Amino acid sequence: MATGSSDSKRSRPRSARPRVSVLRVGHRIGRDPRLTTHLALAARALGADRMFLEPPDPELAARVAALARRWGGSFSVEGVDDWKRVVREFAGEVVHLTMYGEPLDRALPRLRTARDLLLVVGGAKVPPEMYRLADRNVAVGPQPHSEVAAVAIVLDRILGVPGPAGFRGARQRIVPRARGKKVVAVRRGR
Ligand code: SAM
Repeated sequence: MATGSSDSKRSRPRSARPRVSVLRVGHRIGRDPRLTTHLALAARALGADRMFLEPPDPELAARVAALARRWGGSFSVEGVDDWKRVVREFAGEVVHLTMYGEPLDRALPRLRTARDLLLVVGGAKVPPEMYRLADRNVAVGPQPHSEVAAVAIVLDRILGVPGPAGFRGARQRIVPRARGKKVVAVRRGR
């Protein structure tokens, strides 16, 4: 990743970082489960606290919850029927990620110092009102790509990749190694 990317050694302490929520609008139940699941997993692994999902998809939320029980942390997927309500009532900065927005590098200083951030991503189509209701529209490059890539890059730039301490209550954890796989059970109380 280009300049500004970070690894776990450079991730910011939890007390100094914004709390980040993700809102995914326009999820198509039955057509998007894999993509939206990847969005939730990337958001969770890169430090977001929760994902609002419009419309709700209880099966997807349950699958992510099962994974989170095993791998730790408090990330959850909350179904919402009315995305406008989430945007209007969010007590923080609402950042709609779109290729038409202002460049990420320009918005970053403001995003890094916010207390609460809502990163909004769409699917095939985004309701036009989103551009007006969001506090800002931010582009991760002026080319179309993917909601997963957009959220992952923004989280990396804002928070850095969290280490194991970000996933309390995990039942298992990976022992990082250059070759092979090692996964160990975590004893209760850690
Ligand atoms: N025309 C869309 C747009 O406004 O960015 C691209 C649709 S893309 C299939 C689905 C979602 O990915 C978008 O709603 C947006 O949230 C995100 N996305 C795609 N490219 C992006 C970019 N360059 N910058 C920020 N977000 C992007």
